[in-house]
Amino acid sequence: MSGVLVIAESRRGELREVSLELIGAALGVKEAAGGRLAVAAIGAGAERHADALAAEGVDEVLTIAAPSEHFEPHVHAAALEALIEQEQPALVVLGHTIDSLGFGPAVAAHRGLGFASDVTRLGWDGGPLATRGGYGGKVEVELDFPGKECVLLMLRAGAFPAAQGSGSAPARAVEVQAEPRTEHLGFREVETADVDITQAEFLLSVGRGIEDKDALPQFEELADKMGATLSVSRPLVDAGWVPNARQVGQSGKTVKPKVYLALGISGAVQHLAGMQTAETIIAVNTDPEAPIFGVAHYGAVADLFDVADELAEQFE
Ligand SMILES: Cc1cc2nc3c(=O)[nH]c(=O)nc-3n(C[C@H](O)[C@H](O)[C@H](O)COP(=O)(O)OP(=O)(O)OC[C@H]3O[C@@H](n4cnc5c(N)ncnc54)[C@H](O)[C@@H]3O)c2cc1C
Repeated sequence: MSGVLVIAESRRGELREVSLELIGAALGVKEAAGGRLAVAAIGAGAERHADALAAEGVDEVLTIAAPSEHFEPHVHAAALEALIEQEQPALVVLGHTIDSLGFGPAVAAHRGLGFASDVTRLGWDGGPLATRGGYGGKVEVELDFPGKECVLLMLRAGAFPAAQGSGSAPARAVEVQAEPRTEHLGFREVETADVDITQAEFLLSVGRGIEDKDALPQFEELADKMGATLSVSRPLVDAGWVPNARQVGQSGKTVKPKVYLALGISGAVQHLAGMQTAETIIAVNTDPEAPIFGVAHYGAVADLFDVADELAEQFE
């Protein structure tokens, strides 16, 4: 078995952003996996997404028509089984998303594939290497899959760079017989948060180093002045100081802004899991040994309040 098969995702007729991230991740291991990269779109009207999925480096786009444009786990499972049978890939990648969790693990178990979910890094050493959190996120674990000819990995959304550019991959329709077992009745909107930190280009992120809830308004003002969006580490959410829509990390949001300025954040592995793909990371911490400096591009061993005062003055 060789090559990589990516399963794209769409919702309400729109291609989901994670699809291009899956292709971006797959491109990183494509050559090692045997050189072929196929991307599949499943659902009624799947062929509409063929152009968008034909990113540079993709060899073929496979479209699988389904009775409904809405996600149906039974139909997706049947399509994935058929695609694996036909394509014989060494690696299948899906998003670690609500939809894919509805059929990916079942197919992996049914076919006895190697499997890992919530993967945040992907490598290759004679076969796929997947990095994910272990022991409730306290450590990072690197997994390999000895003896498995085909491995199915579910990749965390936002953790991989999206594929760029458009290639010239041909599209091919694949027939799969599967009747839906559920009926889609409609969507119910959830209440939206006041802010979407995943879309911010500049995040000013504060952690337990600010020590007191009363210090928060100073950083809200500073973020305003700097044109940044305020985000936080988990202790501030656990303390009830800030709504969880602003939490960065494994149990919060995965962000990748152009600039991530971390004030008084130690850099626990669960926090890093949500921000280490930011383009530029700047850390301010009084502890020179703080793990955040391990991922920061720029760092200052300094009191965050001194730095905040100086920034407020500069941006006045
Ligand atoms: C299952 C699980 C999921 C988790 N999910 C998340 C998550 O999604 N996001 C998350 O953030 N955490 C998460 N955590 C918690 C995580 O393990 C850490 O406890 C947390 O990230 C620590 O937050 P912090 O860096 O703000 O606080 P601390 O680790 O207490 O660090 C505070 C830092 O501030 C520095 N400091 C103190 N005073 C100053 C000052 N005046 N100037 C400059 N620096 C100063 C200190 O040197 C220290 O490095 C999770 C934990 C578990 C077990």
